[in-house]
Amino acid sequence: MTFENLKKLEKEVQQCKSCPLYISRNNTVFYDGSENAKIMLIGEAPGADEDKSGKPFVGRAGKLLNEFLHSAGINRDEDLYIANTLKCRPPENRKPTKEEKAACERYLRAQIEIIKPKIIVLCGATAMESFLDKKFKISKVRGQIFENIEGYKGIKFIPILHPSYLLRQHSTDVGSPRDLTLKDLIMIKKTALN
Ligand code: SF4
Repeated sequence: MTFENLKKLEKEVQQCKSCPLYISRNNTVFYDGSENAKIMLIGEAPGADEDKSGKPFVGRAGKLLNEFLHSAGINRDEDLYIANTLKCRPPENRKPTKEEKAACERYLRAQIEIIKPKIIVLCGATAMESFLDKKFKISKVRGQIFENIEGYKGIKFIPILHPSYLLRQHSTDVGSPRDLTLKDLIMIKKTALN
């Protein structure tokens, strides 16, 4: 598949009615960043700001993510391709259901196949559960590198804490969720360069 296929895929997503979320969406949210990125960052699903703009991670959590990326030396526009497990907003920002994830999964898989990232950053528990053992706790496995995931040979998967969670954690002390997230992102940047 080529980048041209990404455009076709985005158009398909814009017309998708495979799960009931199409009824309440204002916009589908397909991606942000660069198709040439070595790092793909996958979040949960669009929120109100994302549904309004059609771009992922643009609300408060997105702004905090931008700050962390900047501090870690990661350029959001050039170094990352950003997508979500769901392309439409669940009402009241509730967690995606199993059925919604199953219906939307093929789009994310196609994005991965086209982008061919070296690293996939799983941002938060929902994204992590889509690829790794559902019994894992994000707080325990964040910052670890998972390889040889079935169907994704050659890609390193690294879970990190979701910026929505970090919005409620203000400490920057050593070992705090914010401190650990910054360290994880610095490690991700170094891993992408190697
Ligand atoms: S969330 Fe995914 S499967 Fe559901 S309508 Fe939107 S694009 Fe289609």
